[in-house]
Parts: sequence; structure tokens; C-alpha cells
Amino acid sequence: MNIHEYQAKELFRRYDIPVPEGRVVHSDEQALAAAEDLGGERWVVKAQIHAGGRGKGGGVVIADSPERVRQAADRLIGNRLVTPQTGSDGRPVQRVLVEQAQEIAQEFYLAILIDRVSQRITLVASDAGGMEIEEVAAREPQRIVRERVDPAVGLLDFQCRKIAAAVGLKGTLLPQAVKLMKRLYRLFRDKDALLAEVNPLAVVAGDRLLALDAKMDFDGNALYRLPDITDLRDFDEEDPKEVEATGHGLNYIALDGDVGCIVNGAGLAMATMDAIALHGGRPANFLDVGGGASPEKIANAFRIVLEDANVRGILLNIFAGINRCDWVAEGIVRAIRDQAIEVPVVVRLAGTNVAEGWMIMESSGLDYLRAEKLDDAARKAVEAVKGAAA
Ligand code: ADP
Ligand code: MG
Repeated sequence: MNIHEYQAKELFRRYDIPVPEGRVVHSDEQALAAAEDLGGERWVVKAQIHAGGRGKGGGVVIADSPERVRQAADRLIGNRLVTPQTGSDGRPVQRVLVEQAQEIAQEFYLAILIDRVSQRITLVASDAGGMEIEEVAAREPQRIVRERVDPAVGLLDFQCRKIAAAVGLKGTLLPQAVKLMKRLYRLFRDKDALLAEVNPLAVVAGDRLLALDAKMDFDGNALYRLPDITDLRDFDEEDPKEVEATGHGLNYIALDGDVGCIVNGAGLAMATMDAIALHGGRPANFLDVGGGASPEKIANAFRIVLEDANVRGILLNIFAGINRCDWVAEGIVRAIRDQAIEVPVVVRLAGTNVAEGWMIMESSGLDYLRAEKLDDAARKAVEAVKGAAA
């Protein structure tokens, strides 16, 4: 789960990680008042959306008077911001962060993330701050340093010093960096984060280190024990279909193909998507209905999949262990009847109560394509979608 920059900075503040003074506001008038309240001579107005690259997209504006702050806020709030990370539609901006502008002497990149290869929490840093780290990794990989954390001992001072020295921090900046990294690591661990990224981490006037940007991503599986983090969730930033699916206990991820998939089990769902691709089709989504799926759950799955206007056919692939094919069949029949489904539906059932399942399907008198095996089902679905498109 991602959060906004201003929320991440509030967490940073709680962990004594230095950030600029700032106020989050929802209107241009509030922005003007925030600038006056903060004082100083230059301010930064920053669009709050769950995407980076805002600087490049015009979502980070330097202003040299409170009136200019107001104008920048007026331009950003209520409009969509397009950045290299949002796609061409952009994201709606509902609030901006007004901060004191800092005199930047140097910018660094610092992140803590989980490295899947080494299975370790890993610190990543670079002296090429402010830029997209993917670009740095592609062009100048030698400018990125990494340090893995042994979970048994945690992050040690010498590791932080090593990173700080490797990116060229010297003098009083070195101990500041060590403290900052250790606090960021503590935050990361306390809140079950998947990513804590500071880009840029800046050296500002008075030889101080300051986190000018802050991005955090949290493990959704840990949210049940972190009510303070759960409260930071912004549903406006998420795909409404995915939000609705979560509410129904379905695991749904929107993709850009045209074959809708309703499958039980994440592994089978992946295999089904592969089989569709193998037959020249493109899945419209990943959807795992889980175990013990009731007829209502199956019907809900149909509704969510069909909310995607690109879907031209549906492949239902159930290998029932805990599930029951008769319940699933009841759900399919209900969905096709109640939702007046017009796209072709391919059904593959196997496992518990499969005979009863097919009986319900056959006696319904509804139109659908029957398949016995995964490969057969995928082929039929791809052909049906192509036929429907022709
Ligand atoms: P994004 O990563 O989405 O582009 P950032 O928060 O990193 O947004 O801002 C982009 C750039 O704007 C930064 O690299 C930095 O140079 C500048 N910037 C951001 N916040 C401040 C600030 N408070 N004072 C001065 N410059 C800033
Ligand atoms: Mg940034």
C-alpha cells in the first residue's frame, strides 16, 4: 500500500528523520495562508499523488511570493497531473504540500527495500540523487551502492558509514547520515514497509541533511496490525475495481488484455494467464476467488471482471479442492442470468463435486462453452474472443 509524500514525511518526523517544514492544503487560499504561516522567501508547492516524476511533470513548483504559491496551488488542485510514471491520463490532484524551499548543495538517493534475490532488507544509495534510480542503474550502475542487513543483528553503524562514505558524504554529514539511515530502518521495520525511498536526500544550507522527498510502500498483509498505517490509505489513488474486489474477498488485479479470468488459487490463475498468452490471447485481469467460494462470490467476480469495458470473453477455470464445483456452477448460472452477460463464457470445472457442477450447468439451458482441461479452456477462450471481435 502506497501513501502520499506528506504522509510519509509525517512518519519521518515521528522518527526524527529531518524533513522541511510544510503544510498540506486543499485549496489555493489555504496554500497562501500556509506560505505566510511558514514564512521565508521561497516556497515549493508539491502535488500529492501516488506517483513520482512530479518534478518533470510540472507538479513541483518553486514560488517566490505567497501569491505565487496561491497561483501554483490553484493550477494544480482539481486538475490531472501527468508525469513519466502516471500514464497519459495522469492522476487527479486533490491536495498540495507547501514547503519552505531549501538551498540545495547536493542531492543523494537513499532507499531501504526488500531484495528478493538475497532475501534481505537492503539499503541502496547513490550520489546521483534527484534522478530516477532506474535510469542511473541502466546508465551508471557503478554509482549505486548496496548494503544488505542481516536480520539477526539488524542494521549496524559501520554499514551506514560505509554507504555514507561511498556516496561521498564527509565531515559532520557522516554522523548525520548514519543516524538518518538507522531511524529510517527502524521506521521500515516497525511499520512492515516494503519500500522507504528518499530521493532526493539533500545537503542544504548549514551543512544539514534533509529528506526533500519521501515515498513509502507497506505490506498489505501486515495492515491488520498497523491501524495507524491503514488509516493513511487513499482509495482515490487505487483502481476502483481492485478496491471493490478486496471488499468481496477477491484478489483482483486489472491488466490490459481482453480475456477476463475467474480462477481459484493464485498459482492456477498465473498458469491460466500463461495458457491464454500461449494461445495468442491477452488476459484482461488476474482474479483469484480463493477457497470455499460461494455462489455470491462467483457472481461478484463476474460483475467486477465485466466492469472492464475491454473484456470480450470470460474464462472460468476452477480446480476445486476446498471449493465445490456445484457452488461455483450455481454462481455462474446466477451471473449469466442476472447480469445478462453477452460475451462468450468458457467454463472448465474439475475436482470436488464436478459431476454435480456440470449437471447444474447443463440443466440451466444457458449458452456457454465447456472445457475439460486448462489448455483446451484457454484455446477456446482465445478463439471465442477472436470470434467475438471479428
Ligand atoms: P518527484 O520525485 O516526484 O519529482 P521531488 O519531491 O523529488 O518530486 O521533487 C523534485 C525536485 O524538486 C527535487 O529533486 C528537488 O530538487 C526539488 N525540491 C523538492 N522539494 C524541495 C524543497 N523543499 N526545496 C527545494 N527544492 C525542492
Ligand atoms: Mg523525488
